[in-house]
Amino acid sequence: MGREGFSGKIDVSDPDKAIQIGDRIWWVGHLLPGDPFQCHVYLIENGDQSVLIDPGSKLTFQNTLRKIEDIIPFNHIRYFVCQHQDPDITGALPLIDQMISREDAVIVSHWRVIALLKHYGLDLKFVCVEELGWELDLGGRKLEFILTPYLHFAGAFCTFDRHSATLFSSDLFGGFTEEWQLVAKDESYFEAIRPFHEHYMPSREILYHGLTKLEKYPAKMIAPQHGSIIPEELISFMFAQLKNIDCGLYLLTQTSTDVLKLTKLNRILRKFMESMVTYKSFREIATECLTLVNEVIAVSKLEFYALDGHSSCLRFSSESMFRPIETVIPKEFYGLLGRSFDHWLDIYGHQVVYHCDVPHGEELPLCRLTVPLLEPDTKVFQSIAVFYLSSQVSPADEVVEILRQLSAPLNVAVERELIHRSLEKERQKFYERSIRDSMTNLYTRLYMRESVQRLFGINDRDPNATVGLISLDIDHFKRVNDTFGHRAGDEVIREVAGTILQETRESDIQVRLGGEEFAVFIASEPFEKIKAIAERIRAAVAAISFKGSMENYSFSLSAGVIIRQQNEDLNDALQRADTLLYQAKHRGRNRVCTELKECG
Ligand code: GH3
Ligand code: MG
Ligand code: MG
Repeated sequence: MGREGFSGKIDVSDPDKAIQIGDRIWWVGHLLPGDPFQCHVYLIENGDQSVLIDPGSKLTFQNTLRKIEDIIPFNHIRYFVCQHQDPDITGALPLIDQMISREDAVIVSHWRVIALLKHYGLDLKFVCVEELGWELDLGGRKLEFILTPYLHFAGAFCTFDRHSATLFSSDLFGGFTEEWQLVAKDESYFEAIRPFHEHYMPSREILYHGLTKLEKYPAKMIAPQHGSIIPEELISFMFAQLKNIDCGLYLLTQTSTDVLKLTKLNRILRKFMESMVTYKSFREIATECLTLVNEVIAVSKLEFYALDGHSSCLRFSSESMFRPIETVIPKEFYGLLGRSFDHWLDIYGHQVVYHCDVPHGEELPLCRLTVPLLEPDTKVFQSIAVFYLSSQVSPADEVVEILRQLSAPLNVAVERELIHRSLEKERQKFYERSIRDSMTNLYTRLYMRESVQRLFGINDRDPNATVGLISLDIDHFKRVNDTFGHRAGDEVIREVAGTILQETRESDIQVRLGGEEFAVFIASEPFEKIKAIAERIRAAVAAISFKGSMENYSFSLSAGVIIRQQNEDLNDALQRADTLLYQAKHRGRNRVCTELKECG
């Protein structure tokens, strides 16, 4: 093994041997099978002033020792740098203590770390990085120490070797290792770094503080204590990514202690949160939820039930693309939905409930996971999610935990959808109000102006797409008011409007222009037909009879009928129809007049 210089290429082919990673820098760690934390120990070979960075665990020390001695005699190490005090760094100190014969060997650390390490009762002496002025002169090579306090300990620091531009970053830039990989290959390695920091860094601010300090050092390689070494080309990417993550996620997880499972949970929660922020519709969010949960358990169908008012309920099912369908509260949730969560706990004992039963007429049991959706602090739940499982497998703890954690954001998504729906209903109601006259339910002038423009546009392009217009006015209506009062007058207006609706089609536009004046627009019908419709309305109104005081009173209306001319505007068309209407009045009322001088 060449000890002088360094080719720049890290040969990882045999992790059972020391691996040179820089000019006189060696990886002398050891792999523990199945350990996501794989600890790295680094040796800086510097004659009899050599340095061991983060000596390692009791479990790995014999192997570390063997690797060191392949390069230098163990007693050439003078400095044992402990960048923090975790047992995976310092567990080997009592073993080292027994082996050391040289008087000047020291443990180099922060005073807060030393305050704890002294409890090993070692013969080895300590030296504080503070006393050293935050640097260690190795004669021609200098190590600089950088304080990066974080969760583990307020005395944690990192070490920069300016000679090789290597940053020994301790827990920072650490990663969970599912498969040992001494050097990170590409940007995707960040996915191992992210959960490590989410777990071990208490907050974004504290991580940011450490990162901005480290960023000032011109590192060409970052050698962390866990995970993989970060080569120069990935350094700025990893810095930038790390500055943007959320930390302190360990605060969320109260039950599980398995870091790999927690990591999976975090990843699913993070992806789901991203979908909550970026996806617009409930359908997209629910679909993403189904996809994510399918990563941990096979789910064939996902349904949500949400209270919408007192007794009505909405069902959103993956089978109908999560479109809301009004339904009654299913029997199994009756007395639960809308009640307190404590009541649910009294019955089931926990939030996520697994149950199987054989549906009527089927042979195999249907299994599902039912989750009331709650905000963490609310007592009452208004919605519930049901995950129908593809097979009869009871869920692992990790699945239950994921569903429990998804319950709060899913609740927000469902609530958001319900609010959206009620706003849409309100909007529709207001729109209806603006287009429908509340007394007669005929269209308003406002709606007429909008809607006839479309018919007129078609008519302007196509002379055969005619628009017929009937203008109508109740005869001697003042007399009705005067004789029977305004209430009775209103009733007559409503009755006439009802007659107009009855005698026309839904596709026609029946308008209350105001008072007791009406108009009907009819598309693509010949003049004769329009005239016949007007005549029918007139006859039907003349046949109206009321009970009570108006019993023997006879009502009638007059009408004018035109076919709109191409490019004629609405006011001109109404004006023309009105002229004919007045002619009808003039000729004795209760009749329909057209431009052909016919007045029936
Ligand atoms: P003509 O045969 O010439 O149409 O005679 P008329 O009495 O119907 O005359 P005109 O159209 O001028 O009068 C309509 C009256 O309708 C005037 C107004 O007091 C009354 N009116 C308008 N809107 C309403 C309403 O909403 N309810 C009631 N009860 N009366 C209304
Ligand atoms: Mg009038
Ligand atoms: Mg009138």
